Amino acid sequence: MPIRVTVWNENIHEQENKVVADNYPLGIHGTIAAVLNADPAFAATTATLQEPEHGLTAERLAQTDVLFWWGHAAHGDVDDAVVERVCEAVWSGMGMVFLHSAHFSKPFKRLMGTACNLTWREAGERERLWLTSVSHPIAAGLPDHFELENEEMYGEPFGVPEPLETVFISWFSGGEVFRSGLTYKRGAGNVFYFRPGHETYPTYHDANVQTVLKNAAKWAFNPAARIADPGAAPNVPVTEALEPIEERGPRLHHDGEEGYR
Ligand code: ZN
Repeated sequence: MPIRVTVWNENIHEQENKVVADNYPLGIHGTIAAVLNADPAFAATTATLQEPEHGLTAERLAQTDVLFWWGHAAHGDVDDAVVERVCEAVWSGMGMVFLHSAHFSKPFKRLMGTACNLTWREAGERERLWLTSVSHPIAAGLPDHFELENEEMYGEPFGVPEPLETVFISWFSGGEVFRSGLTYKRGAGNVFYFRPGHETYPTYHDANVQTVLKNAAKWAFNPAARIADPGAAPNVPVTEALEPIEERGPRLHHDGEEGYR
């Protein structure tokens, strides 16, 4: 079975800005899904903010191996119940790829547990991405560096926890640098943050960026999550021990007590 990817996008700039609409006639979500679907390894579909439950029902997430997330103007409009559902899916093993300004999205901030602040400048600068981990699966097939002629600058310090791995570092023509490709594990879920993708530039049409998107989806996919019980890390009391134990008091909680967690 191919890797089932859902590409989520707030889908607002495409509706309101002609430059963005011209860059992405299919929407950023439709463009990324088409890139993935050109590879038989994937079966990609899309979901947007405007759909009921933002297109991310429990049933939909159960059918999603990897969720991509692009958001910018409407982070605050994403329903908290959906955010919680997405995070629980990640903890149960769904992979997740956060793109560009999704660094400030509710699910990213919830999964990181930090402010996720950064510095930025919208001046169409050249971005040069350097591979810091050439043997990493997300870097497969890429040259040792590649450039995007026009991008928004994101600069350090980036207020995220220290990642498992840094796969890319960006340099911008204004002089700043930024950790552009970061991996995390959250529960059973693989999480990747990839910086490029400002809406007014055609970044997701770039061949190297498309290679990263495909590699990231393959890397984030956790096959075990398809067969695992989402409650595989249960939160239950264990009354019977495997080995004989001598019970020592006092006991604060009693068998059958409701609500003890
Ligand atoms: Zn941007």
